[in-house]
Amino acid sequence: MITKIVNGQIVTSSGIKRSHLYLKDDKILALTNREIKFDKKIDATNCYVFPGLIDAHVHLELQQGKYRTSDDFENGTKIALSSGITTVIDYLPFSVNEVPNKDQWVNYSFHKVITKGVKEDYIKKYIKSGIPSFKIFTTYSKNGWMLNDGEILDLMQLIKKNKGILEAHCENDGIIVNNEKKLKPSIPNLPLIHEPITELEAIHRLAYFAKSTGVHLHIVHTTLYKSMTLINSLKRKQKITFETCPQYLFLDSTYLKRKDGPLYTCNPPLRDTKNCKKLFKAFLKHKIDILTTDHCSFTKDEKMRAENIFNLPFGIPSLGYSFLLMLNIFDKNKLYKIVRFMGTKPAEIFRISKRGDIKRGNYADIVIVSEKALESMGKNGFDTSGYNPYGHIKNKWEIQTTFVNGKLAYNKGKFLEKSGQFIKRF
Ligand SMILES: [Zn+2]
Repeated sequence: MITKIVNGQIVTSSGIKRSHLYLKDDKILALTNREIKFDKKIDATNCYVFPGLIDAHVHLELQQGKYRTSDDFENGTKIALSSGITTVIDYLPFSVNEVPNKDQWVNYSFHKVITKGVKEDYIKKYIKSGIPSFKIFTTYSKNGWMLNDGEILDLMQLIKKNKGILEAHCENDGIIVNNEKKLKPSIPNLPLIHEPITELEAIHRLAYFAKSTGVHLHIVHTTLYKSMTLINSLKRKQKITFETCPQYLFLDSTYLKRKDGPLYTCNPPLRDTKNCKKLFKAFLKHKIDILTTDHCSFTKDEKMRAENIFNLPFGIPSLGYSFLLMLNIFDKNKLYKIVRFMGTKPAEIFRISKRGDIKRGNYADIVIVSEKALESMGKNGFDTSGYNPYGHIKNKWEIQTTFVNGKLAYNKGKFLEKSGQFIKRF
């Protein structure tokens, strides 16, 4: 079965060109203005045609203390599909060993969370089953999730030996715990409790350990401009990559002082306006490896009911907005940049083969977008949180159509076929 996408502006990692795009079964057949016999035609005149994008950091069906995320897998992958994201990577909790493996609205994989010392067989088992990335925390000692430095070093050696990737949530636990005793546990105090040195120290330490063991270290949800310059300066001598998220680019700590401040709580917290502006500027200059969302959705009621930071569910719903936000900040002739940090680079770091770009032989994950009148960004139609943290941003783009593995999965608000698969990463 051949599908022809006609007359679109095709956006790849290397540029934009007007062309037809042919899909054959689950793969991309050709990017050409030549005529090839087809079975089905999709008109993309005046539209931009992107590769389906990758979000390498989402939390669906996550239990956080007494709270459970408002999105389950079904709903979360619907949000992704309707927002142009065709592959998500979630986290498999330490206590879960079975890898879910049924069709979803988008392709999916997992990072394995490690909160205790493990043996080599454990690492081997996941790498063999197509999960090469492992996530650790340098904080959350109170929840029992933190590894100590010795355990981290041991784990790095095992992961290096078996050619895996180590991801780290970097914050200094001791400083946070001490600040929690000293400062009022109020929401506006979050950036003081998790002061910048907590992130910077942990990145320095982990990067040093990673360099001495030779492991590939990926730093999740980096919030500081200074963290970015530090990591970039280390790249000459070791394999180290990092991500940031829309909340650290479009929102700052002034939101935490508002009446609806609880809605903007995430961990690490939003940073001051100056940092946010500098990080945003650097982002536009392509100094950040990848954009992920750390999507973690709780309802507006649950978040607003919290009295202080100790009984609050942390996380911001960003999955439905990341691609739209990006479309609005780049000039049209620079849209191909989005493909790099939401497509090819996450695919490269996390070993997602044949996805994240439009080229012959890649899987046919495709998203078609068009322009509309400029207005404030509305809520994603499948949102379960009850709010859009980016409602203040003006938006002139619309996601029209999404293909997953060559199947027309979403078209103009309608969900058509569930063809997302578990992706093995080797
Ligand atoms: Zn996360």
